[in-house]
Amino acid sequence: MRKKLVAGNWKMNGSLAGNRKLLDALAPVDGVDIAVCVPYPYLAQAAEKLDGIDLGVQDVSEFTAGAYTGEVSAVMVAEFGCAYAIVGHSERRALFREGEAEIGRKAAAALAQGLVPIVCIGETLAEREAERVVAVIERQLAPVLEILGAEGLATAVLAYEPVWAIGTGRSATVAQVAETHAAIRAWLASHGVASERVKILYGGSVKADNARELFALDDVDGGLIGGASLIAEEFLAICRAAAVAQSCIE
Ligand code: PEP
Repeated sequence: MRKKLVAGNWKMNGSLAGNRKLLDALAPVDGVDIAVCVPYPYLAQAAEKLDGIDLGVQDVSEFTAGAYTGEVSAVMVAEFGCAYAIVGHSERRALFREGEAEIGRKAAAALAQGLVPIVCIGETLAEREAERVVAVIERQLAPVLEILGAEGLATAVLAYEPVWAIGTGRSATVAQVAETHAAIRAWLASHGVASERVKILYGGSVKADNARELFALDDVDGGLIGGASLIAEEFLAICRAAAVAQSCIE
């Protein structure tokens, strides 16, 4: 049985004083794994403050060390006790031109250091309207599978994040999420990946008031939470919704 995971993505937000309040207010929730993916400069602060909640980053270099100015390696973040590294977030794909194979190599770099990569996939609105959702997912996952192999991909976490739902307040509908997550799991299974082991998170305007119905879906193993992860009460309410959904499958 897969355990639900709720991962917060702080994006490029935070300050030492503001983080202190947020981190102090966070607490583990029984029955659910929780992680917060913070900006690199706050790793030490978050590592010191978090108890029973995992630490993650929002990106990681595909390289291990050397002349790569501005890059941060998985080796470095592992030293802070990081458990997760988001790779291929749509903002990195769109704003920083990250390519499919590069994202696969980043996921491999994370895995090599014992971090679980949270590989983000998802279509734009134009792609959804052109009924290309499954084709996009295949285009994004195939290079990752080629680089990680079936066993590597089975140990990763996937986050289905329709681009049009991120930060817009417009979540995908329950029916859209159910259909797409089932398609992702079917794609994994048909490509030799132990699909029943893979956690598939949903991300895109998840809030306390829609989390419960989304997390109740069979193929939804939790959420990747952006804006709402910056508000302790909201984030914890989402975690509690995941715990309720988890208790229903136990
Ligand atoms: C995200 O940044 O991954 C995300 C899902 O953002 P939001 O929850 O704000 O839509």
